[in-house]
Amino acid sequence: MKNWAGNLEYTAAEHRQPRTIDELAEIVVSSPRVKALGSRHSFNDAADTSGVLVSLGNLPGEVEIDESNGVVRVPAGHTYADVGSALQSNGFALHNLASLPHISVAGAVQTGTHGSGVANGSLASAVRAFDIVRASGETETLQAGGRDFDASVVGLGALGIVTSVTLAIEPTFEVAQHVHEGMPWDAALANWPAVTGSAYSVSVFTTFQGENTHQIWVKHRVDDEAHFDLATLGGRESLVPLHPLPDVLPDALTGEHSTTVQLRQPGPWNERLPHFRSEFQPSHGDEIQSEYLVPADQAVHAIEALRGISDLIAPLLYISELRTVAADAAWLSPSQGRDSLAIHFTWQQRPAEIFAVLPRIEEALAPFDPRPHWGKVSVMPRERLRLAYPRLDDFAALAGRVDPLGKFRNAFLERSVFAA
Ligand SMILES: Cc1cc2nc3c(=O)[nH]c(=O)nc-3n(C[C@H](O)[C@H](O)[C@H](O)COP(=O)(O)OP(=O)(O)OC[C@H]3O[C@@H](n4cnc5c(N)ncnc54)[C@H](O)[C@@H]3O)c2cc1C
Repeated sequence: MKNWAGNLEYTAAEHRQPRTIDELAEIVVSSPRVKALGSRHSFNDAADTSGVLVSLGNLPGEVEIDESNGVVRVPAGHTYADVGSALQSNGFALHNLASLPHISVAGAVQTGTHGSGVANGSLASAVRAFDIVRASGETETLQAGGRDFDASVVGLGALGIVTSVTLAIEPTFEVAQHVHEGMPWDAALANWPAVTGSAYSVSVFTTFQGENTHQIWVKHRVDDEAHFDLATLGGRESLVPLHPLPDVLPDALTGEHSTTVQLRQPGPWNERLPHFRSEFQPSHGDEIQSEYLVPADQAVHAIEALRGISDLIAPLLYISELRTVAADAAWLSPSQGRDSLAIHFTWQQRPAEIFAVLPRIEEALAPFDPRPHWGKVSVMPRERLRLAYPRLDDFAALAGRVDPLGKFRNAFLERSVFAA
């Protein structure tokens, strides 16, 4: 079995899909090594194990909306597409979504996945509680504000198998999206907070080369005040729907794009906040991704540093995306304790060349204390990760306490989290 991008073959001896929590607990108790698998959208071996991989799609349970407490309880194997349509049809919304709705809720939360928006925290910031099957086979519920919650909500699958996630909800809202092309870099960088704050969610796509940004995806809430108008900084609003990757064309038969509806046509939050529609293949497919989060107040310097090595980056790239993420409290969230700029790379499938350029990127970003995305590829050694994630040692100690035999450990965690 391979991950979604096909760049990783899982090495697990077995793949199980339990039908009950009791069966899941029995698998955990009886397996020396076990790991939860989400929707397989990570690009590294975070989800792999030498033992039993467990998928949760066959566990019973539905999306349960609790209007009086303003939350929704989601079976962990469900995707954001599942939750989004259930919430929307009942008049509710989540605060934000990632670029694709295909990912599992538990897997996305466990790696600190995020969308964009200066005031929008990571997807983990919406979690109010979760149920987790521990190494002992017992289920525990962790509540926001309670013991070990901030330590565990972004848990890299190291603390147990999450079986349900309870998320904060709000009344549904509409979003209208448009794409702005060709804004000069000079104007964008001179007005960076205004650009990224020009709507509820903003994404700047670039190859870091040339004098202009490629595209700026602007998603504004219809119920929001008017924001800063990007047209004042140059470039133009596209009059046709676009894909962020330069070489992806609309479907030859239907003429449809895999991207969400643009041209300022209002629509429900769950059909506009992601870039890609749930019924289509997102992004390119034949790709590898990397991402680093740096403090938002260092954004311009970090972008300039990458523009300085764009001749190394651009030949391997489909596209880069720059987004903003509000600070949260989860120990291992890449946006923990600091409002962040997320610098994402969608690479062509050229692993040897990518692994050769990643050290150069990490070196260029080093002055800005970059934190790699846990679900994407990086080469940062544990000693650097410890500096970037100040609670990494505390997290390792917690994992040692709740999983003393190291059932949930894998090569990724040994390399990134635990001391040799
Ligand atoms: C096309 C594409 C676009 C993307 N866009 C974004 C984006 O906009 N923003 C962003 O931040 N990231 C993005 N990502 C990365 C993606 O969100 C993360 O890799 C995320 O972890 C994927 O979730 P998953 O369910 O596939 O997890 P998997 O890859 O299956 O697993 C990831 C980790 O979560 C753990 N895990 C999974 N399920 C559970 C569970 N039930 N209990 C405990 N641990 C569990 C696994 O053990 C593993 O450690 C994108 C990826 C792709 C392929």
